[in-house]
Amino acid sequence: MIAAETIVIGGGPAGSTCAWKLKQAGRDVLLIDKKEFPRLKLCAGWITPKVLRDLEINPRTYPHSLVTFDKLHFHINGRQIPVKTRQYSIRRYEFDNWLLQRADVPVYNHTVRHIRRENGQYVIDDAFKCTYIVGAGGTTCPVYRTFFETANPRVASLRISTMEEELPYNYEDANCYLWFFENKLPGYSWYVPKGHGIINVGIGGKLATMKAREETIHQHWQLFTQKLHDLNLVTNHQFEHRGYNYFLRQRVQKPRIANAFITGDAAGLATKDMGEGIGPAVESGIRAANSIIHNTDYSLNPVTRFSIWNIFKLTFLKKSAI
Ligand SMILES: Cc1cc2nc3c(=O)[nH]c(=O)nc-3n(C[C@H](O)[C@H](O)[C@H](O)COP(=O)(O)OP(=O)(O)OC[C@H]3O[C@@H](n4cnc5c(N)ncnc54)[C@H](O)[C@@H]3O)c2cc1C
Repeated sequence: MIAAETIVIGGGPAGSTCAWKLKQAGRDVLLIDKKEFPRLKLCAGWITPKVLRDLEINPRTYPHSLVTFDKLHFHINGRQIPVKTRQYSIRRYEFDNWLLQRADVPVYNHTVRHIRRENGQYVIDDAFKCTYIVGAGGTTCPVYRTFFETANPRVASLRISTMEEELPYNYEDANCYLWFFENKLPGYSWYVPKGHGIINVGIGGKLATMKAREETIHQHWQLFTQKLHDLNLVTNHQFEHRGYNYFLRQRVQKPRIANAFITGDAAGLATKDMGEGIGPAVESGIRAANSIIHNTDYSLNPVTRFSIWNIFKLTFLKKSAI
């Protein structure tokens, strides 16, 4: 049996950040992920300055593609609202792998299925055991499923359905566009240029609202790709979309049960307004690590809940200073 003081399940931003912090503090930690890294992760890859600060990343020395935006182009009900703000885009394929390597912990490629608690230890698939277990396995996290589902049932109305494609494209327009509520989509769609001739385009909306209206995410995707074509943003391309579901921020009654923790999408932490999940995943990973290192409470209350204020802040503050 492979043993460590802490085992982190999931190597996305929540898991790798938690493992990184534990390792820095000299603790004994290993990480398990079902996918071999680098792995595909569906995501627009927009990150805020806070994410870079929390992860102690200097955008000038980060070795992979990182695009800096000084403006985001919001469109709300057809009205264009350019907002001056410093934001970034990365490719999750590169970013997650880089974070995981930087954590410098043993990584096991294994799909976790069964976890049980025995004599104060967590036993994972009769192959691994640990004192602390951190659930960072995203929406389908086995730690959430085993220990947290009853205490923190997910709220169906907060389930977001998404569809996206990341593609090599010789783009001419290097702006970042966000269209809210287009064709009554209960969410928004995006066009995010990345470095090295890659763009990410996608849509996300509340699944329950679409179902109630007898609409599907596929229908919205068709309208969206037509719009990209009409705006000359993406032309002559046969789209190959992929979909994924995750949850917006909900009240997490018990983020820690005994020595088990949930973080990131496993806890359902994406911001209520924009579905920004990388930042909250990183914040919760740091908080879980600190709780283990210092033997302190683990609370998700301070984790960022809304993105819009952080994006608009600069514009408002500048205007009010005039
Ligand atoms: C289409 C789309 C676009 C998005 N765009 C943005 C954006 O632009 N900005 C932003 O901030 N957020 C965005 N998000 C949300 C963001 O991607 C997530 O909130 C974030 O990835 C959560 O990180 P995590 O570490 O909690 O989980 P994940 O990144 O999902 O990582 C979970 C890991 O756990 C592993 N795992 C799962 N089950 C098991 C198992 N049984 N055994 C072992 N390993 C397992 C998986 O392989 C995976 O590597 C987007 C989401 C989607 C779907």
